[in-house]
Amino acid sequence: MLNLILFGPPGAGKGTQSEKIIAQYQLIHLSTGDLLRSEIQQGTDLGLKAKTLMDQGLLVPDEVVIGMIENKLKENRQAAGFIFDGFPRTVKQAEALDTLLTSYGESIQVMIGLEVTDEELLARLLNRGKTSGRPDDQNEDLIRKRIQEYNSKTTPVADYYRSQDKYVAVQGIGEIQEIFQAITAAIG
Ligand code: AMP
Repeated sequence: MLNLILFGPPGAGKGTQSEKIIAQYQLIHLSTGDLLRSEIQQGTDLGLKAKTLMDQGLLVPDEVVIGMIENKLKENRQAAGFIFDGFPRTVKQAEALDTLLTSYGESIQVMIGLEVTDEELLARLLNRGKTSGRPDDQNEDLIRKRIQEYNSKTTPVADYYRSQDKYVAVQGIGEIQEIFQAITAAIG
């Protein structure tokens, strides 16, 4: 299996690059943000609870996203591999993911970190908000809150994988195709 994490702040281009990676490597895409938005659309209890936090730009509890990932891994035992997008976002989630993958005799091969400045992220997300229909992309304060959550709670996850020699930084500003080439080089 090829298991990789596409890491980076909101607006770094994880969704765009995920699509290209999946097409090339036939991986299953696991985006906790997409899974949560689907729960909201279906009006589930989990979705309703998550929405309150997402609408404030805050992270949902670790147990919720870990449970969703656990289910998806179980459902896709025959997969060629997984691309984790927007997960893990805390060290606790990273530890849980390691434990889950180990129980399947698997592991993360590489974490690719898309690096983009805060000002560029803000501009991109405000622009995306014009068409994405995502309420959390349409308000500058909320976008800043999400970037702040990322900087305080999520950046330590990069150190977690760095300490395992699995972190590769990729410049996230530039042509989509050039960024993709840097990613494929990192996958090796
Ligand atoms: P995203 O689509 O990845 O930008 O996620 C949108 C929102 O969903 C985030 O601002 C969080 O509120 C929530 N979320 C998504 N993934 C996670 C995660 N791994 N841990 C906690 N909250 C998450």
